[in-house]
Amino acid sequence: MATEHTEATIKIQAKDRHFMHPWEDVTAIGSEARTVIAKAEGIYITDSDGNRLIDGPGGMWCVNVGHGREEIVEAVAAQMRDLSYFSPWSATAAPAAILAERLAALAPGDLNNVFFTTGGSTAVDSALRFVFFYNNCLGRPEKKHIISRVGAYHGSTYLSASCSGKMLEKANMDMVEDRVHLIQNPNPALRPAGMSTEGFCDQKVEDLERKILELGADKVAAFIAEPVLASGGVIIPPEGYYQRCHEVCRKHDVLFIADEVVTAFGRLGHYFASKDVFGVEPDMLTTAKGLTSGYVPMGALFISDRLMVDIKAAGNESKGFFSGFTYSGHPVAAAAALANLDIFERDALLDHVHNVAPHFEKRLQELADLPMVRDIRVKGLMAGVECCLDPDKPDNERDMNFLLEVDDICQENGLLLRPVYSSAVLSPPLTITTKQIDTLVGILRLGLETAWKKYKA
Ligand code: PLP
Repeated sequence: MATEHTEATIKIQAKDRHFMHPWEDVTAIGSEARTVIAKAEGIYITDSDGNRLIDGPGGMWCVNVGHGREEIVEAVAAQMRDLSYFSPWSATAAPAAILAERLAALAPGDLNNVFFTTGGSTAVDSALRFVFFYNNCLGRPEKKHIISRVGAYHGSTYLSASCSGKMLEKANMDMVEDRVHLIQNPNPALRPAGMSTEGFCDQKVEDLERKILELGADKVAAFIAEPVLASGGVIIPPEGYYQRCHEVCRKHDVLFIADEVVTAFGRLGHYFASKDVFGVEPDMLTTAKGLTSGYVPMGALFISDRLMVDIKAAGNESKGFFSGFTYSGHPVAAAAALANLDIFERDALLDHVHNVAPHFEKRLQELADLPMVRDIRVKGLMAGVECCLDPDKPDNERDMNFLLEVDDICQENGLLLRPVYSSAVLSPPLTITTKQIDTLVGILRLGLETAWKKYKA
């Protein structure tokens, strides 16, 4: 931010030189004076200079019930007093067992086996490792290829990063290349001129089937997909795409992994979006973030009963899935997740999302009158406002810098944004009211207009 900082802020920014942040440019460590966030309440965060900002990205798509929920604080403190840790290898404990049962009841289909992880990346990594394990158990070790999509983000472990399709972020990073294949994502804005959305959907579903056939169905183990590609800029697939991809997978005996790290826990108005929004019962589902609303780290992988039955049917000898984490089912994280779910129920948060989401969409769509706004994508309470300064001369870097400028201006006016490439993405706490949405969109408009004037000057 361009504003003068207090001495306290400057001190923290100096210490921050030793905090190697995610996605850090290692040639410039310490050169960026980041906003120092000191406190948070509801949909607002307060920086160390005392400025109050709307938390546009909801932390990192995760603070679903909002900041400062005493119930979660109390549940976590009480759990730490009672039992701060147990080994999930040798024992169990009430919070994890109760949470697993509660989640299985909420999850679609027969996803009754809940494997707790430390976050989203480890949930995805565990899903992929389970896929390999499954096919080994079934005596088909060659069925190991994974199909993912350009623009997808699935995490930061070796395997989950390899399945991510954000190409700029693959530079200088080694990836698993022999088993992972990317197909184009279903962003309707990228369809060729004159092609209908339906025709484009047909084409994208065909892309998946063609890739399976090209590799050989006997070699393809799984397709992994976010229902809405989040970090790729909030890419919303055309009607029917997700369901038809699931049908293609079923036809070719390819497992369908729904990556609901972002879309679960109310972001699209349901606990899980796969079935309730897109009509799909996946074979596996990964989640994290909204599971605890970001209060403490936790992720989960859900595995279908069917897969367990297949493994049992494949032979009588015992088959250990030798994968797990010291913190699998951590009692403090589980207590936070249970308190989080209680808030969803008590405050009827899913109904609230259904009530405010149309207003969120309507207000954001009004930004279409601005000259630099190229596309506005909104689903539930997640949105991507894509900007292009000159459609005749595309320049990603220029558009990305423009969005950084917009973020600065928005921060000066009370809104924290999260530019992703050339899109401003938004996923505010689900508790946001229509009035607060009006304020958010008003500040975003001001940011876009002011940065545009500067660019034109
Ligand atoms: N999958 C998706 C769809 C995500 O958006 C993310 C993170 O943003 C991840 C996986 C990785 O989750 P985590 O950062 O908790 O490891």
